[in-house]
Amino acid sequence: MRKLLFESLFQSALTEPRPARDEAAVAELARSLDRAARRRLGRSLSIREVDAGSCNGCELEIHALNNAFYDLERFGLKFVASPRHADVLMVTGPVTKNMREALERTYAATPDPKWVVAVGDCALDGGIFAGSYAVTGCVSAVVPVDLHIRGCPPSPTALLQGLLALVEATR
Ligand code: SF4
Repeated sequence: MRKLLFESLFQSALTEPRPARDEAAVAELARSLDRAARRRLGRSLSIREVDAGSCNGCELEIHALNNAFYDLERFGLKFVASPRHADVLMVTGPVTKNMREALERTYAATPDPKWVVAVGDCALDGGIFAGSYAVTGCVSAVVPVDLHIRGCPPSPTALLQGLLALVEATR
């Protein structure tokens, strides 16, 4: 025990260094997205995240938008707990048979105008889960999809770029 404590005094940190972030680029993307949402909707964008069967890798990147590192709420963009308050549904994973009805009901509960963003390669075509007995299929097989953001998983910056492109394209 004493040896362990002694070693820990001189050992460097075991955690990985945090990824490089272009603060100015992220801030500009988030501001542009907020401006575009206000032009389109007259207010900030509200996002409801739906995990339809992912491995949670995509969720980690989506949640990162809310952490102290990216801190998306400082630009007015927010995640909401109910689809009834959402403008955008961000759906991850292939749609499992267990989640199909939940996704359909979430889509039905989201007021118009609404957008569906399929996040990650699994949402696009099933990814590594394609063909599984537990999977219904990709997100667009269950609800209409307005945008796919590719990646396994896509980075928070890619998520912001995708949302901005979506809102600007539907202006
Ligand atoms: S795209 Fe990759 S990170 Fe996202 S749910 Fe599929 S396997 Fe996981």
